[in-house]
Amino acid sequence: MSGQIPIVDYLVLGDDPHLVATTCTACGARYFDRRNACASCGATEFAPAEVEREGEVRAFTIVAFAAPGVPVPFVAAVVDCGGTSVRANIINTDPDPDHVELGMKVRLATYSLGTDDDGTEAIGFGFEPSTNASTNAPTNLTTEG
Ligand SMILES: [Zn+2]
Repeated sequence: MSGQIPIVDYLVLGDDPHLVATTCTACGARYFDRRNACASCGATEFAPAEVEREGEVRAFTIVAFAAPGVPVPFVAAVVDCGGTSVRANIINTDPDPDHVELGMKVRLATYSLGTDDDGTEAIGFGFEPSTNASTNAPTNLTTEG
């Protein structure tokens, strides 16, 4: 059997990959890790919520030194996706200040992390500049779905 598995369990693959946040049903705070209680209000009820795929860069760091085996430099960022802060790398662009800036429009992108002996592919995610796509699909506001 071959297939794809997401590198984190809040990444949902398929035809339309997206992130799912754990959302506090009492105050709406969103988390990507498992919580026993909400850090904002202490409530213990959570529900999954789909996170917007498009966002804006709120903060970023160009990482020049990392653990052995991690290619550098890369861009570590916080992306605001419709009010949900997502920590992810900015990918598919040059990792330098000429190509990454605060407020830059980005969108979710997935990439292969490699395939194991059984043919199962691990999939990671990052955000890529959304301007790349708008050049070949101008003002396509009515995509299906
Ligand atoms: Zn809460």
